[in-house]
Amino acid sequence: MATDVREFLESYDLYTRFRPHHSVWWNGDWPQVVEVLCRACGAKRSHRVWPSKVAGFTLDWGVYMLHGACEHCGTDGVIFWVEVNQREGWMQKAGQLPALAEASAQQRGLQPARSA
Ligand SMILES: [Zn+2]
Repeated sequence: MATDVREFLESYDLYTRFRPHHSVWWNGDWPQVVEVLCRACGAKRSHRVWPSKVAGFTLDWGVYMLHGACEHCGTDGVIFWVEVNQREGWMQKAGQLPALAEASAQQRGLQPARSA
């Protein structure tokens, strides 16, 4: 099954490069919806995504901030920062809130690990 940008956003760890092997690897469109944990709902919910480019002056490279709002409760959301290198054909997350580890810990009913 081909990994698409939506799956990348939903499941990839920070700094893990997503490098799809398509001739046209990314057409510049972000998914309209991602399904990730909503902290307010305590469950996976659909989040409507608003992308904006926050850094980068060329088409070759840029950083995007994607804000997703929970479609169920409308009170909580998710934020991704994604670095896109068009020239080399990859993207990676530079940040995500809430963190993916926190989200999966919450799904298992565990507290997130304390940081030292
Ligand atoms: Zn919610």
